[in-house]
Amino acid sequence: MTVLQITDLDVHYGLGRRRRQALKGASLAVEPGEVLGLIGETGSGKSTLARAVLGLVPASGGRIVIDGEDVSGYRARQWRSLRRRGVVQYVFQDPLRSLDPDLPIVESLIEPLLIQGIAREEAIAKARTFLPKVRLDEELLDRLPAQLSGGQRQRVAVARALITEPKLVILDEPVSALDAANRVGVLEILKDLRATGIALVFISHDLGSVAGIADRVAVLYQGELVEVGTAREVVATPRHPYTRLLISSAPTLRTASAGRAEREALRALLHA
Ligand code: ADP
Ligand code: MG
Repeated sequence: MTVLQITDLDVHYGLGRRRRQALKGASLAVEPGEVLGLIGETGSGKSTLARAVLGLVPASGGRIVIDGEDVSGYRARQWRSLRRRGVVQYVFQDPLRSLDPDLPIVESLIEPLLIQGIAREEAIAKARTFLPKVRLDEELLDRLPAQLSGGQRQRVAVARALITEPKLVILDEPVSALDAANRVGVLEILKDLRATGIALVFISHDLGSVAGIADRVAVLYQGELVEVGTAREVVATPRHPYTRLLISSAPTLRTASAGRAEREALRALLHA
């Protein structure tokens, strides 16, 4: 079953003369186990799309179906219930947003399970089994977020998102705040996740970061999805002028900010 289907999705912010449309008729489907890269410049509506799918911002039009459940028109209480079940999880750009600075890592990890009513001992046992999946050592469980590197923190945030065994994880710029070395570490665990069958929506403003991982790439430009295709198709035969611009600017991105693994992924794709 399709994990996420959005159809003609509209999102507005503000009221009266301040009202602005941030998402315009977006349609997209994500299949089980697929990695979809969602790219676009700052302000193009990427986070808005993610927030709409999580019920954190209301849609003003269109439909959202998550794992067969039509959630369009859900009220706050129904969204909370959906999030508690953990079918869709979210990883923010800044891992400190999902980790309580005053609590040891283990507490942040087990929180989604405790919310589901799972017993503490069982939740901790499960947390231990998830650490190897994000290449982290058990000894980190008792530490505070501040005692971890940015990359380790983001891997904890990924483990926390996985622990409810979701069908879909939305990662909003998960590596943008990390330095090159930590970025590669997180990209590698995201690659590992492909084997688990969990669908990922990987949001980035940087084509280079998603190119090596995504099965398909969707390009957002000023609130509209202007292109969706396999990463290879989008790079080889971009249809929208903005996508062409994005690709032509990739060499600058490569030298300016991309790490070696990203450069290699992009090069492999460009020359495939
Ligand atoms: P991206 O994640 O691609 O950078 P966003 O989805 O955050 O883009 O923003 C899309 C547009 O919506 C931008 O023009 C932004 O200024 C606007 N926007 C985002 N959040 C809000 C908000 N809470 N209130 C009003 N406007 C917003
Ligand atoms: Mg954003």
